[in-house]
Amino acid sequence: MLSFKLGPGMGKKGRQNSRHMSLRLIQPSGTLVKIEGGPMTLERTFAIVKPNAIKNGHVGEIISAIEREGFTIHGLRMAHLNKELIKGFYIEHVQKKFYPELEEFMLEGPVLLMVIEGENVIARWREIMGVTDPAKAAPGTLRRKFGDDLTRNAVHGSDAPATAEREVHYFFSAFDLV
Ligand code: UDP
Ligand code: MG
Repeated sequence: MLSFKLGPGMGKKGRQNSRHMSLRLIQPSGTLVKIEGGPMTLERTFAIVKPNAIKNGHVGEIISAIEREGFTIHGLRMAHLNKELIKGFYIEHVQKKFYPELEEFMLEGPVLLMVIEGENVIARWREIMGVTDPAKAAPGTLRRKFGDDLTRNAVHGSDAPATAEREVHYFFSAFDLV
């Protein structure tokens, strides 16, 4: 069964111009199925503040960047991951040469797990993060500002709608999502 929420268009533009109405289809599992609202596409993505950014005290700045964009937070939890959880999350990378270093890094300390929503948030969050390697990321991006190296790059963001769907539900149950 689907629930329907009809309300003013979301995002910065939507709030300024409520003539754009958005139709939100949300399954009982908490999955955001589809948004129709004029020219806008409302999505959810999965983000992580990685152990080095937590340790270096950048949680506030990273959450500020999310809010500055007009994104909204629908799931938020601290966790200290174990090997099994990290392996399942990074399943596509387990066979790669860099995986042991990535696993060791992700085990180093707690992380912040987040589900964020906004207009085109999947691509836009990746733009705000910058490319994987902080040294190559554009000035002002989170990875450029807070990343230490290719592995210790401060933040994670899903790379596509299907990935976001899997990653959100890997860590959050329907009860955890608002
Ligand atoms: N990573 C690494 N070495 C590499 C490539 C990636 O340690 O050569 C790490 C890095 O932390 C990265 C994560 O593995 O964020 C996942 O890699 P992916 O290629 O999916 O990059 P992302 O989507 O995070 O930009
Ligand atoms: Mg990736």
